[in-house]
Amino acid sequence: MAMVFAASAAMLSCGPRQKAADDDFKYLVDGFADLNIIRYKIPGWDNLSLAQKEYAYHLSEAAKWGRDITWDQYCKWNLPLRHTLETILENYTGNKQSTDWQDFLLYAKRVFFANGVHHHYAEDKFLPGCPKDYFAALMEAVGVKDEALLDFIYDPDAFPQRRSTSKDGDIVQLSAVNFYEGVTRAEVEKYYASIEKPGDPEPVSYGLNSKIVKGKDGRVYEERWKIGGIYGPALEKISGELIKAAAVAENEDQKRALELLCEYYETGDLRKWDEYNIEWVKDTVGTVDYINGFIEDYDDPLGHKATFEGYVHIKDSAASARTEILSANAQWFEDNSPVDPRFKKKNVKGVSAKVVNAVAMSGACYPSTPIGINLPNADWIRKEHGSKSVTIANITHAYDYAAQEQPRSTLAEFAYSQQEIDNYRKYGPYTDEVHTDLHECLGHASGQLLPGTSSSALGEYQSALEEARADLFGLYYIADPKMVELGIVPDLEAYKPAYEHYIRNGIMVQFSRVELGRPNTEAHMQNRKLIAQWCYEKGLKDNVIEKKIKDGKTYFVVNDHKALRGLFAELLAEIQRIKSEGDYAAGKALIDTYAVDIDPELHKEVRERYDALHLRPYGGFLNPEIVPVVKDGEVVDYKLEYPDDFLGQQLSYGHRYRTL
Ligand SMILES: [Zn+2]
Repeated sequence: MAMVFAASAAMLSCGPRQKAADDDFKYLVDGFADLNIIRYKIPGWDNLSLAQKEYAYHLSEAAKWGRDITWDQYCKWNLPLRHTLETILENYTGNKQSTDWQDFLLYAKRVFFANGVHHHYAEDKFLPGCPKDYFAALMEAVGVKDEALLDFIYDPDAFPQRRSTSKDGDIVQLSAVNFYEGVTRAEVEKYYASIEKPGDPEPVSYGLNSKIVKGKDGRVYEERWKIGGIYGPALEKISGELIKAAAVAENEDQKRALELLCEYYETGDLRKWDEYNIEWVKDTVGTVDYINGFIEDYDDPLGHKATFEGYVHIKDSAASARTEILSANAQWFEDNSPVDPRFKKKNVKGVSAKVVNAVAMSGACYPSTPIGINLPNADWIRKEHGSKSVTIANITHAYDYAAQEQPRSTLAEFAYSQQEIDNYRKYGPYTDEVHTDLHECLGHASGQLLPGTSSSALGEYQSALEEARADLFGLYYIADPKMVELGIVPDLEAYKPAYEHYIRNGIMVQFSRVELGRPNTEAHMQNRKLIAQWCYEKGLKDNVIEKKIKDGKTYFVVNDHKALRGLFAELLAEIQRIKSEGDYAAGKALIDTYAVDIDPELHKEVRERYDALHLRPYGGFLNPEIVPVVKDGEVVDYKLEYPDDFLGQQLSYGHRYRTL
C-alpha cells in the first residue's frame, strides 16, 4: 500500500507526546460527529532559504488548485452541493440558534470534511439531520433553485456508496465515483482488454487519468483529464504554479521532473506520466519534495482510475539524522544481537527512511491525511528505478498533541498508576518513535536464511512472525547502552515507559479495535499480542509482568524491566531460528498459542472501558497559510499563519481555488 493512514486518531492517542512547557499552540481546534479537526506546525520552515520557501509555496498552491477535481471525482453531485452550502453559509441571515440550523451546520462540516456526501473512510452516504423542507427554505432564502440536487441530498438510495462493494450488482454502475458514465462493468473490462498490450514489460497505468463513457454510436471510449479536456481549467492553474516552482527548484532533477509533469497535464499521455515518475524518483537530496497528480486507485471499484491528490513536505533533519546513524551502525547491531551467529548477516545494510514534515495537503490527502507515503505505484518503475518512502512526523505529532488536549485518553484509562502515566508522557512517545526507527531501519533488514530455506516457508504465518522479529529487535535494542552512546536515547531509564506501553497495548488496549467475539487476525496486532502474551506467561514465575485488579479494572504492570528485556532476547532468538530454518510447525504453534484468541472477559472489559472514553475515531487537518511578505514590490519572505477555523478555511479555499 502506497499510503499509510493512522489506524485512527484515537489509537495514536494512547501515547500523548509531552508538549513543551512554553507551547500554548492549540492543536485540537474543532470536533463534530466522529471527527476531530487538528492543526499542525511546520518545524524547520524558518531554516529554509528564501528560494526553498518559494519552491514550497508554489508547490503548495499547485496542490490546492486541484481541490475541485477530487470533489467532482468522488461524485458528480458534490460540487453543485458544495456551491449551494457555500452560498447558504455566506448569505443566510435567518435564525442561527435553532436546532435545524445546527443540524444543517453539522451536515455542512461533514460534507467539507469528506470532500462530498460520502463518509471519508466508510464511504457510505450520510444525510442532513434537518428536515428537507428546512433545507429547501434555506436554499430559497439565498436564491438557489435546484430541485434535483435537493432530491439527491435526501435520497438515501441515490449513490449510497462512493465505491460500491456490492457482491452481485454492477459495481461500476452502483459506485458514486465519477469515473464512468453510461457503461457497464463488462463494457469497461472489454474496453481495457482491447487497449492493454499483453507481455509489455513497461506497461502504462491503463485508464489512470480518464473517464470512460459511451458515445451516441454505442462506442466506449476514454475522455482524458488533461488541459483542454475534463478538468482542464484546474490543471491549467496547477501547471501555472508548477512552472513557477520549476524556476526556483533546488536542483536539475526537480526541474526536469516538474517540466515532465506539466507536459503530462498538457497531453494526458501516460508514457509521460511514467517518464515523470522516473525523474521524480531521482531527486533524493532535495529538502522540499511533493506529490501532485492522479495517484492512488483505491476509489475506483475496478482499481484503474486515480483520485487527485497533492502533498508538499520538507525534510526533518533531526529525525532523518537519527535513522542515518542507525543505518551507519547496522553491522554493530547485527553482530551484537542475541541470535545464533549462524543466522546473522555478515554484511548488513540498514535502510534509511526519510522523515519529513508536511507543509500543505490537498485533494484526497485533505483534511484526512496519510502519515506515510511510498511511491511511485508502477511495479516496473519501482523495480528498475526505485521508489521514495517518507514518514510524516509533524502529522503524527499533531495527532499526539491533540489527544493530549482531550480530557480523556487511553493512556490515563489503561495505565495502572499516575507514575506510569507521567513516565510515559516524559519519554514514551519519543522512545516509541525510536523503536519504530529500529524496527524499520534495522529489524527487517537483520538476519539471514540458512542455505536451502525458502523465503516463503512460513506460509500464512510469515507476516505476523516477520513483524514480531522486527519489533523484538527494536525492543531489545531500545534498552541497550549503545543507544545512549550514539546519542539517540537520553539515558538508561528512558526505555522503560516504552516497554510498559508495548505490553499494555499488546496484551489489552489494542483489542478495542476488534469486534467482540472475533479473534485477533491482523498481522501487526497478532505480532504484538504474541510478544506481550508470551512474555507474560514466560515471566509468571518471576513476576516480571503482573496482572492487577483495581476497582474492578484489569491492569498489566511491568515489575522487572531488565528481566523483560531478557525475555525479548529469548523470543527474538527463537523467531529468528524459525525464520532462518523455515520451521513452519514452530511458527504456527507460536501464533496459534499466543496471538489469535482473545480472553472473552478481558475483551469485553477493554471494549467497555474504551467506549466509555467517547473518543472521536478520525482526525483531519487544517493547512497553515503560507503568506508571501512583500517589500518594495518584491517577495522577501514567506511566513506561516495558523488558522483555527475549519469552515473558514474551507470557505476561503472555495473562493481562492474554484475552477470547476
Ligand atoms: Zn514492519
